[in-house]
Amino acid sequence: MPRTDALEITDIPVPEYERVARAIHRESGLHAIIAIHDRTLGPALGGMRMWNYRSEDEALTDVLRLSKGMTYKSALARTGLGGGKSVVIGDARTDKSEALFLAMGRFIESLGGAYITAEDVGTTIPDLEIVRRETKWVTGLSVASHSSGNPSPYTAIGCLVGLRAVLEAGFRTSSPRGLTFAIQGVGAVGSALARGLAKEGAKLVVADMHEDRAKAVAAEIGARHVPHETILEQECDVLAPCALGGVVNDRTIARFACKAIAGCANNQLLEPRHGDVLAERGILYAPDYVINAGGIINVSCELHDGGYREAEARRRIDAIYPTLKEIFEIAAREGTSTHRAADRLAERILAEGKKRQSNGKAR
Ligand code: NAD
Repeated sequence: MPRTDALEITDIPVPEYERVARAIHRESGLHAIIAIHDRTLGPALGGMRMWNYRSEDEALTDVLRLSKGMTYKSALARTGLGGGKSVVIGDARTDKSEALFLAMGRFIESLGGAYITAEDVGTTIPDLEIVRRETKWVTGLSVASHSSGNPSPYTAIGCLVGLRAVLEAGFRTSSPRGLTFAIQGVGAVGSALARGLAKEGAKLVVADMHEDRAKAVAAEIGARHVPHETILEQECDVLAPCALGGVVNDRTIARFACKAIAGCANNQLLEPRHGDVLAERGILYAPDYVINAGGIINVSCELHDGGYREAEARRRIDAIYPTLKEIFEIAAREGTSTHRAADRLAERILAEGKKRQSNGKAR
């Protein structure tokens, strides 16, 4: 039996979500919410975010949005997983403690595997190692602990795979050789993407808020680096946002001098309507949650019978290419923008899953 003694767990009813639960643990100060959006395709996997939300309402809004996003992302990535997410309300710099993460572990354990966690903004592998002491439903730990390790290289590999579909749809080539890519943010995924593209003969322009980082990557791969305030307006074939979300917005959209946008950052469109504006402007957009799925695909392979195998993860990451091709075809056929085509395809996959489920039950 999980030790849930001092943990107060209450459900928050939310229509269209399978389960949303809040946990309070007074001794450690834990105040957290887990949202399980949909488990049609498998257990709900999504990261644990620790953020200084101003109110529980704000945390709830975030966890609902993020967990639904995970359902769509996993559906299209064919991970055999559903969508979930957890948020811990607190300052990641000052409010962390062993007791808090142990209590979070017991909260996750109380759901019996319906929700599986991983690292996210504000949490680290050492935090998750503590959570793991109370529950086995944790992924993305170190390779040394038989886990799949850091997902970032796989996210970058997935982006390179997806870029092939972008180049075929927008540039009539499948190779980045000779094309110019502007990369915003050369952190964990942006730098790996830049290296991969340089290896394939692309011309690169890079920028980072930490200028030293951009300079070092540029020197290493023979790229040009520019001030981060100017990266979005660089004349290029493909702009690859690999920093923060919301880069496609009313302010930036007129400044883009690219033919396609395809990068690893999450939530690149500030609002869905911005994806429509890109389409109107003839800028091909690779929906972020499709092209940046390499990391989640890699993590999901931990849950396979027999455990994680890198070769299998790589094989599954390759499927980002046909998925993106299908999305571009749907968008062209149905006269819609690519992010809406991606949502439609995800909804179709989910509907098929639900049908299979109800047929199975009827038998
Ligand atoms: P990171 O923190 O390692 O790198 C982000 C980099 O962007 C940093 O170097 C930072 O200085 C820079 N940056 C921030 N704002 C900037 C700006 N305005 N202009 C230029 N540079 C800026 O993070 P990461 O793990 O590489 O993730 C990058 C993005 O990719 C995030 O949006 C993340 O959610 C998304 N993503 C990452 C993964 C993964 O496996 N790491 C998976 C899916 C999505």
